[in-house]
Amino acid sequence: MSTHWGYKCEDCGVSSEHYLNHGEATLRQVYSLGSVLSDARDKCSMLDIHVMGTAHYDVDPIEFLAMHKGHNIVLENEYGDIAKATE
Ligand SMILES: [Zn+2]
Repeated sequence: MSTHWGYKCEDCGVSSEHYLNHGEATLRQVYSLGSVLSDARDKCSMLDIHVMGTAHYDVDPIEFLAMHKGHNIVLENEYGDIAKATE
């Protein structure tokens, strides 16, 4: 059974796309990096930084986290199940 995961901001009540099938570990790694990825993306135009498999989304995981910086973020799957964004 496929289970696609994304983020949910509990402060805003907003969910991201459900980006990655069984992607909890990847999304936790991206979350653990904080704003490093979005900062690198902003500061160096020669870098093309994407989480594998998510480049085609209008708001990718890095952008979603940047939009909700400092908010309470959890993982959410396509069935509405919630998991911690940290291990
Ligand atoms: Zn938020």
